[in-house]
Amino acid sequence: MAEPERGDATPFLPERSSLKALREASAGCRGCHLWRGATQTVFGEGRKRSRVMLVGEQPGDREDRAGKPFVGPAGRELDRGLEAAGIERADAYLTNVVKHFKFEERGRRRIHQTPKRFEVDACRPWLDEELKVVRPEVLVLLGATAAKALLGSSFRVTRHRGELLDSDLAPIVTATIHPSAILRAPEEEREEARRELAEDLRMVARALNDGH
Ligand code: SF4
Repeated sequence: MAEPERGDATPFLPERSSLKALREASAGCRGCHLWRGATQTVFGEGRKRSRVMLVGEQPGDREDRAGKPFVGPAGRELDRGLEAAGIERADAYLTNVVKHFKFEERGRRRIHQTPKRFEVDACRPWLDEELKVVRPEVLVLLGATAAKALLGSSFRVTRHRGELLDSDLAPIVTATIHPSAILRAPEEEREEARRELAEDLRMVARALNDGH
């Protein structure tokens, strides 16, 4: 199969940057090939004044059907972590670096495929606009794809998770695992992975309470 052409979402950005205008415009984005197989664009969700923004990789199967981020099994793991850390989901802005579901069909199942760098780069203008509009105090990057997209390809989540990172993307920037990693972990390691995600999110809660 021919390699898809490199894309760019920039021509699809609206003239006026508000979350509503961005969401509406993103629905028609054809900035890369990923819209073809997916059901719909899954734009970020949350209030403009959210103090914390969490950025994952891409919508999954459930999110693709629902048109909302983090509503599937990984979203439930994220909810558990947020709850354990005392962060209200309603106070957070949730989004992904790639706004369409990338998958491979196996029989009737749609299996997640990690987006390639050129797909992440094509979609990046949407995230940049979300950052400009929401201007979160704390930016939390969930998993390697999001962290590498924003912090560079040499960044290792496993090594630097839960740390305060040096970045001008937001006053506080940190990274942790993607909640789907909990689901992929062997059964006997899941509770520990949950505990670690909650611990990283507690650091975020402390930073918010300190009023940074
Ligand atoms: S993945 Fe991003 S750049 Fe590609 S079509 Fe979807 S919204 Fe546009």
